[in-house]
Amino acid sequence: MLKAFASQADLAEKKITFEQLSENAYAYTAEGDPNTGIVIGDDAVLVADAQATPVMAQDVIRRIREVTDKPIRYVLLTHYHAVRVLGASAYKADHIIASQDTRDLIVERGEADMKSEIERFPRLFRSVESVPGLTWPTLTFKGEMTLWLGKLEVRIMQLGRGHTKGDTVLWLPQQRVLFSGDLVEFGATPYAGDAYFQDWPHTLQAIAALRPAKLVPGRGAALSTPEQVQQGLDDTRNFVSELYASVEAGVASGKDVREIYGEARNKLKPKYGDWVIFDHCLPFDVTRAFDEATKYPDPRIWTAQRDQEMWQAMEG
Ligand SMILES: [Zn+2]
Repeated sequence: MLKAFASQADLAEKKITFEQLSENAYAYTAEGDPNTGIVIGDDAVLVADAQATPVMAQDVIRRIREVTDKPIRYVLLTHYHAVRVLGASAYKADHIIASQDTRDLIVERGEADMKSEIERFPRLFRSVESVPGLTWPTLTFKGEMTLWLGKLEVRIMQLGRGHTKGDTVLWLPQQRVLFSGDLVEFGATPYAGDAYFQDWPHTLQAIAALRPAKLVPGRGAALSTPEQVQQGLDDTRNFVSELYASVEAGVASGKDVREIYGEARNKLKPKYGDWVIFDHCLPFDVTRAFDEATKYPDPRIWTAQRDQEMWQAMEG
């Protein structure tokens, strides 16, 4: 029987944790479902990654209101993926911040990505009818910008490509807390269908060079010691590098993508098979790695139809 497509068979609700990491930083994490970061400044609140729908974002707002009544003025999109951006309207923020590269991806493939992601992972789009459409940044930057929330310095930086072309991290230098988006995962499989495999390890190196004391990954528990941060960076780099090396070797010996997928799966499953969404991600990740190792320097656009054709070719 064909394995259930992507995460359509994943229906179990996760337990939410809302924890304070420093004087100003909080993490909303969900046992491997997409995380949200919260920064409470002197006069305003910033939310990093919005959740998948406005109804789901209401739970983040409820937690924020348990600790502060300051206005939520900013939403930061760490990258363009629907599961992190489509809930943004719920916050009624003054500004939605994203890198120019992320905005370019929304223009080019936001619509296709929205349809594709909703079909891949229905549980993560609870009350999908509350989504008003695509989320458009109102404030874009190239490279880096700094936001001052009163005396709190919030640095918003593109340290390189990895999970997507537009990847952005949020860094609180005074408290050494970093929100990485999906550039770093912990106990969760990195999704690499839109990735730049050869750049990703260098970008992780740039994160490590900041020497974060704490790090909130895109998925998985908040990392609250330098040792845990290093573990999260190492795990992500090892997965990305091992997968790409396996695919590159298959390409070099002239194998087709389905055979290369089988080999990559056999190599990676013993080590990473218990990470959440392993079975969901691997076919997408190998497809993108194969593309990058052959003739597509940039990720091709995923559509709901291309998703199904790829799944059938790999798993059928
Ligand atoms: Zn993502």
